[in-house]
Amino acid sequence: MGSEAVKVVVRCRPLNGREKALGCRMVLSMDVRHGQCFIQKPGATDEPAKQFTFDGTYFMEQTTEEMYNEIAYPLVEGVTEGYNGTIFAYGQTGSGKSFTMQGVPEPAAQKGVIPRAFDHIFESIQCAENAKFLVRASYLEIYNEEVRDLLGSDPKQRMELKEHPDRGVYVRELSLHAVHSVGECERLMERGWRGRSTAYTLMNKDSSRSHSIFTIHLEVCGTEGGVDRLRAGKLNLVDLAGSERQSKTGATGERLREAAKINLSLSALGNVISALVDGRSRHVPYRDSKLTRLLQDSLGGNTCTLMVACLSPADDSYEESLSTLRYAHRAK
Ligand code: ADP
Repeated sequence: MGSEAVKVVVRCRPLNGREKALGCRMVLSMDVRHGQCFIQKPGATDEPAKQFTFDGTYFMEQTTEEMYNEIAYPLVEGVTEGYNGTIFAYGQTGSGKSFTMQGVPEPAAQKGVIPRAFDHIFESIQCAENAKFLVRASYLEIYNEEVRDLLGSDPKQRMELKEHPDRGVYVRELSLHAVHSVGECERLMERGWRGRSTAYTLMNKDSSRSHSIFTIHLEVCGTEGGVDRLRAGKLNLVDLAGSERQSKTGATGERLREAAKINLSLSALGNVISALVDGRSRHVPYRDSKLTRLLQDSLGGNTCTLMVACLSPADDSYEESLSTLRYAHRAK
């Protein structure tokens, strides 16, 4: 696999109200035409800014629509042709991962990647001639290395990962929901997302510590040259747990153990992606975390991967932003 199959872009949100009220300065700037991102260490104006280059950079007012059309569109198009694809949002809590993936209804240009992918897939179904489609969706989360079904009958039930010689790694008893329209997909996404936040409020836990994976499973049955052909593709839309280092947050006990697992799965993901990009490593360490095991058939091989690394431009996020840029750059 060439490194073309893995794309990495960074997205910097505007300063938020809190950062403005604190009088934060901006430490990030971008040359969007050349995919370059610059970060200036606060209080060290005599030091040159550190520079990173990516497959795309999106700054402040740029929209999810632009990002989707430029970089996500071909990946989702591949899924409609029978390939597997995965889109990740990475970054510290509050950096814009959900804004990018789930999005906001207004303005329309900031509609998220997940609902855009729904539109895209159903549009291509409508345009296809002489083909039958089966679209199913599943939505799960990984919290503390435990898998839960966000659309199941019992959201508290822990699910088991299984391995099958043909099917690969899968989640036993994960619910799959047939969907026939964009509206149905949106309702499933909202149901899972809402259930997740309510459960966390009840448990007094923090949902930013879980990874959520919305998967669209697509089967296309059509005739090509008079021969029936079945193609199956899968699109994983992944909102990763906040990447902030927990030592800073003063976590102890159970929270610290959870944090160690988040760090473990994010670094396992980084290791897998960089082994794939490198192309020379014979060993890709999929088995090191549930996240990478689950996504094994959608990372590497004949698949496309997009990582969107989200950033705050404020000086008080300098260390986290630098670590996000380094993580994202390693995946290049
Ligand atoms: P995360 O999911 O990484 O914790 P959110 O997506 O919830 O972060 O974003 C935090 C806040 O910043 C939200 O209020 C969101 O609406 C806002 N925000 C994030 N990215 C942008 C952006 N590109 N433009 C405008 N507002 C944004």
